Formats: sequence, C-alpha cells, structure tokens
Amino acid sequence: MSDRCPKAVDVAVVGAGPQALTLVTHLLQKKKSLRDRLAIFDPAGTWMQHWKEQFAALDIPHLRSPAVHHPDPDPYALRRFATSRSTELFPPYDLPGTRLFEEFCEDVVRRWELSDRVIPTRITHIEPTKYRGTRRFRLESAEGSTCLARRVVLATGEGLPNFPDWVKSLPPLHPPDALQHSNHIDLRRSHLQQRRVLIVGSGLTSGHLAIGAVKRGATVTMVARREFYGKLFDADPGWLGPKYLKGFHAERDWDKRAAMVRSARNGGSLTPAILLKLRQLARQGKVEFVENCQIATAAWTNSGWRVEAALGESGKTLSSQRFDRLWLATGTHFDIRQNPLLAAMWETHPVPVVGGLPVLSDRLRWGNCELFLMGAWTALQVGPVARNLYGGKLASECIVPALTKASLALPVSV
Ligand SMILES: Cc1cc2nc3c(=O)[nH]c(=O)nc-3n(C[C@H](O)[C@H](O)[C@H](O)COP(=O)(O)OP(=O)(O)OC[C@H]3O[C@@H](n4cnc5c(N)ncnc54)[C@H](O)[C@@H]3O)c2cc1C
Repeated sequence: MSDRCPKAVDVAVVGAGPQALTLVTHLLQKKKSLRDRLAIFDPAGTWMQHWKEQFAALDIPHLRSPAVHHPDPDPYALRRFATSRSTELFPPYDLPGTRLFEEFCEDVVRRWELSDRVIPTRITHIEPTKYRGTRRFRLESAEGSTCLARRVVLATGEGLPNFPDWVKSLPPLHPPDALQHSNHIDLRRSHLQQRRVLIVGSGLTSGHLAIGAVKRGATVTMVARREFYGKLFDADPGWLGPKYLKGFHAERDWDKRAAMVRSARNGGSLTPAILLKLRQLARQGKVEFVENCQIATAAWTNSGWRVEAALGESGKTLSSQRFDRLWLATGTHFDIRQNPLLAAMWETHPVPVVGGLPVLSDRLRWGNCELFLMGAWTALQVGPVARNLYGGKLASECIVPALTKASLALPVSV
C-alpha cells in the first residue's frame, strides 16, 4: 500500500468513482470534521478514472441522465457550471456532454478539496476484527499492507461481464480481438476499416459500439433476442422519488422487490436519438438489425465467425454471413457471493442473498456491522437506479446519517 496510507482511519471508502464522490461530498456537507478521518482507496490514485475510460473507449458524446444527476449535493451546481456552455447540454432534458460532465466533476473535487485524497491502491480483502476492545475492519491492499477502519463504504462499481452460454463453450481458436466483451473494447484502439462486426445485445452500449464502428469504416450487424426499442432513461423517472419508491419500500418480499427492479430496467434499451441514428445508418446499408434472434453457436473459420441462430426466422441472415469481430454488449451480472472483497464477511456476518443481491439494512449496512455498500449491490433497497448517478445520491442519503449521527451508530465496543 502506498506510503500515504494511514494505519488507522475512521471511514474508509473503497473506490473513487462517481458513487464514492457523491458519498464523500454529502458526508463532508453534513460533517466537515470527518475530512481528516477519511481515506479513499482506488488503484487509479485519482477520481473518476474508470468513468472517464468507459466514456472515451465507447466514444460517448453525452450522458443518458439529465444535468441534475451528478456527485455534488447541490442539484443545480452543474447547470450553474454550464452557464456559458449551453451547447454542451443536449436535448431533450439537458443531458451533459461528456467533457462538460468530467470538467464539472473535476470542479467538484477541487471545491470539496479532495484532489489529493485518493490513495493509489486496490483493496483485496476486508475482514471484521477487534482493536483494544472495539470493532474494526482490517483492509488489506494488493501490496500486502493493512489499514484498520472503524467504518467502511464499498463503492467499487460494476459486476462481472455477462457471457452467454454459447460463448462459454467456444474453443480458444480465434485471435483475441475477434471476440470481446464491451467492457474490454476500446474503439480508439480498434482497426475496423472494412471489417464486418456482429454486436450482440440491445442496450445502449450496443448502440454506441455500432455507431463508433461505422465511424471507423466497419459494417455492423446488431443482433438481439428481442426487438430494439427506444427509451429515454434506463428506468422510468418515477423511480427517482416517492412515485414508485414508496410502493417499492412497502414491499417486504425481497423476491418481489428483485422482480420489480428487473421489470423496471426491462433489459437493455437504446435512447430514441441513438435508435434514430442507427436507423439512418441502416438505410445507408451500414447497419443491419437482426431481432428476436437467439444465437446457438459460433465457430471461428478462415473467413471469420460463422454464427448459427437457435430461434427466429431472422437468424437465417446470420448463418449466411461471416464476421471479423464478435462483440458482446451483453451487460454485467451481479452475484455478491462472487465478490472476493467480501469473502471473509460471510463467516462472521452472513446476509440473505436474493437474485445475486445482498439484503442490506435500510441504511445500506451489511449485516449488523459498520460496512456499507453502494452502487448496483443496493438495488433491493435503493431500487432500479441504484447503479446510476442518482442511485449514488439515494444511497448517500441512507448512509450519511448512519456515519454522522451518534443515535444511528452501532455500539463500538465488543
Ligand atoms: C458506458 C456507460 C455509460 C453510463 N452512463 C450513465 C449516465 O449517463 N448516467 C448515469 O446515471 N449512469 C450511467 N452509467 C451507469 C453508472 O453511473 C456508471 O457505471 C458509474 O461509473 C458507476 O459509478 P461507480 O462509482 O459505482 O463505479 P465506477 O465508475 O466503476 O467506479 C468504481 C471505482 O472503484 C474502483 N475499485 C474497484 N474495485 C476496487 C478495489 N478492490 N479497491 C479499490 N478501488 C476499487 C475502480 O477502480 C473504480 O475507479 C453508465 C455506465 C456505463 C457502463
């Protein structure tokens, strides 16, 4: 662990993405004195590195969420920051341009005096321990150093790449860049002139990849089990407040809550603007849609990928073609039991798991201890927007009181 790493801290935040930044600004707004008792860990050693990389790699021009969704506690802070940059707010709801958003976040980091606060290391292990008769967590870094923390917030982001079964059974006969999951694709480094690319999946990532590939000289076939459809946001805005969350929180059956989350997100969707752009490219013969089609097998041949569909008339289009690249925009899956950071927690503080997600307390506590989760892991409590920017705000509203109010803290002595 870096030399800057404290041996003991009050609050350890693991991860320095937008969710962690949201938590820290909301925390400091409530209790400034926590600044010097706080440590933030991320191998990047800086804020928002993963966010920036994923937007650059997919060549994303602007966010899907509106300008009031961001890590600062003041919802209007981004609009003010953009006063002289109105061309960087995109219709229909002032969606911030990628550069504007990143520069705004840099401003947030500066204003909250957080620039040099990220300790450049990966946390590899967390376990509950005791120190002089009090409850603590022992955090271990990739370099083998340790840090004792009274409270821990995990804001480590996305789950694991989701690979369809037919991909799992493929022999490794193809060149590495012939088959990639979207998490590992970087359009800036892809040579695609006159390449035939098959993109699997119907979410926004598939749309960004298709547009980026065409821009670089490829022709694209987009295949999905369902029909491609346009939706402004990935979950209805009613999920940002009491309209839907009231009923969600009243539901005490965790399986039903998990089903509500799945149905609200309804798999992947494109935005109407991206769908329009793709349809224009389809008219120019650069993009082809193959819908209601389930891939059964793929085989790497001298002339590229040969793909067979299990279902759907439209599958015939696939088997008659060859593809140079097979890109999986098949999302990520979340199974908290596979999170290596939490391996030790199961022995001392097991929690129920529903649909791969942990059942946390209303304050997003793991079991009866001072370990808090953020992001997609909190979907059973925060709802379908848990993994989004606004989910970070909703999670902070649950966690911050537990970190700042003595009446909500758990007993520290063992
Ligand atoms: C392409 C794309 C576009 C998106 N666009 C939007 C949008 O417009 N609006 C919206 O609301 N949401 C959007 N999202 C969803 C979501 O907001 C982002 O995925 C966001 O990055 C999630 O923030 P996060 O802080 O949870 O995770 P991340 O941004 O992934 O940050 C997590 C950080 O944790 C660090 N980390 C991980 N493990 C460890 C460890 N063991 N130790 C220390 N550090 C660790 C990582 O290095 C990383 O920096 C988008 C997602 C994607 C993939």
